[in-house]
Amino acid sequence: EAKRDPGSSYRFYDRQLHISAGYQLRLEADLRNALRGNELELYYQPRIDLATNEVRGVECLLRWNHPERGLVGPDEFIPVAERSGLIVPIGYWVIEQACKRLQESAEIGYPGLVFAVNLSFRQFHDRKMTETIFRIIFNANVDTSLLELELTESAMMHDPEYAQRCLRELNQLGVSFALDDFGTGYSSLSNLQHLPISLVKIDKSFVQALGKSADAEHIIRAIISLAHSLQISVVAEGVETEGQLEFLRQQHCDEIQGYYYARPMPWADLVQFLNKRGESACLQL
Ligand code: C2E
Ligand code: MG
Ligand code: MG
Ligand code: MG
Repeated sequence: EAKRDPGSSYRFYDRQLHISAGYQLRLEADLRNALRGNELELYYQPRIDLATNEVRGVECLLRWNHPERGLVGPDEFIPVAERSGLIVPIGYWVIEQACKRLQESAEIGYPGLVFAVNLSFRQFHDRKMTETIFRIIFNANVDTSLLELELTESAMMHDPEYAQRCLRELNQLGVSFALDDFGTGYSSLSNLQHLPISLVKIDKSFVQALGKSADAEHIIRAIISLAHSLQISVVAEGVETEGQLEFLRQQHCDEIQGYYYARPMPWADLVQFLNKRGESACLQL
């Protein structure tokens, strides 16, 4: 699929482009203005720790408030941003914004909240990636151990030596890494064991197949047990039902993220959500 396999994604979007080249070009032009015009916004989706029932952190998810088309989701414009290279400046804006909110969360009484940011394939392979991220976190003066970067297997495995070097450099600054959409790609956790990855996120397709396919259960069990044997934590994403939650709890999944608890929401709503829970949102480590 697109994000996971760059080869096939370009074929896929080329096909799309033949259908609606004009549409794509306009979207790209609009996106160029979006960054300057303050039309991009981060939404935040809580991640719940199953052992403590606390909000462990949030995933930062990009939204575009398009002047005519309303709120546009990332599945629609990230591919365009990726194609045009705009994902690079957009991605740095996302990290800057996440760092600002990270600071703010401590000020409003939620220190210790982890902020997870997605890095796309092209962004990860930007030559200035590590130094730019270094500059952003240095300027923001944040606790880097609360910043987590999410990468897919294809981004990490495209050039394993490069990935290893970048992850180690950033990890030395305190930044941690999560493997996103796990289970959908081609690599196995053993391929990744030399990388400083502290978390895997089970792709929502497996979670949502629970109860419908016995394979999904087996795959989830296997991922959790292998991850734990490598001292890697597990987040299940796309949890929508109590049944899914109970299964994951039984399997000792560490954290869950999904509509069952909360949808991605604007910053002001997140603050309300945290206040309403009326408890310390941070895990005391
Ligand atoms: P992702 O990183 O795998 O993010 C999880 C997606 O699952 C989000 O979709 C989230 O809204 C959705 N989700 C969470 N819980 C549930 C649930 O219970 N049910 C269902 N059906 N969906 C759920 P979203 O926000 O549309 O983002 C889609 C993808 O776009 C992300 O997948 C990520 O790959 C990419 N993306 C989002 N923000 C950024 C960004 O700032 N930079 C980059 N490079 N990519 C981003
Ligand atoms: Mg993600
Ligand atoms: Mg994911
Ligand atoms: Mg995904």
